Amino acid sequence: MHLETAAKMIADASSVAVLTGAGVSTASGIPDFRSTTGLWTADEAREYYISNHYFYKDPVDFWQKYKDIFRVKLLKDYGPNHVHRYLKELEVHGKQITVITQNVDGLHTIAGNEHVIEYHGTLNSATCPNCGSSYDLPYLLAAETPVCETCKHVLKPDVVLFGDPITEHDKAEQAIQQSELVLVLGTSLLVSPFNILPEYSNSLGKPSILINREPTVMDDLFDIVIHDDLSKIVQQLQK
Ligand SMILES: [Zn+2]
Repeated sequence: MHLETAAKMIADASSVAVLTGAGVSTASGIPDFRSTTGLWTADEAREYYISNHYFYKDPVDFWQKYKDIFRVKLLKDYGPNHVHRYLKELEVHGKQITVITQNVDGLHTIAGNEHVIEYHGTLNSATCPNCGSSYDLPYLLAAETPVCETCKHVLKPDVVLFGDPITEHDKAEQAIQQSELVLVLGTSLLVSPFNILPEYSNSLGKPSILINREPTVMDDLFDIVIHDDLSKIVQQLQK
């Protein structure tokens, strides 16, 4: 039985790198921004608006589109679900857990996990491109176009925009290298370069588990593959 083997592998590992995707957040009511039915592909123009290029071209309109597309105003209403809490529990039980997430909602951090690598950044803050000052979500919501208090520059969201470099990749690889087990939850592994990480893990010969509702093109890389509802499987793992 795959589930029992997975439960034993998790129980036996003292350190786990957990790679998460939209499937972890959907149980909190957050839409999948990138799936085929998700917000990204509903309108291809959105990819243009949520880009580094558009931010510098028209920062005022950028912020309007950005807040609309990511439903930033609703963000404070979402909370961690039991998948997030399960990963915190593993940490409380003495495991070294590093969450490497594609999600930008910040819910792993809110759930209390100490080591979270936000691979695509976060919706919860923004930074002044001029002086580097950081601003939190309430500040970003207070004005239509948030600007830096000191130098009046329009702030840039801490989400990785299209055209922005990924800065967390090396850190993610390092976390995988230092973990005994790799657990992949709720992602179809279609987004590059994030999907290089399972290949990297496989090249190191790390034991690995994938839990995702749909088959992925990378299923062959994993020791254990479970295609089922993530919430349901996590509840069973908790028992
Ligand atoms: Zn500034």
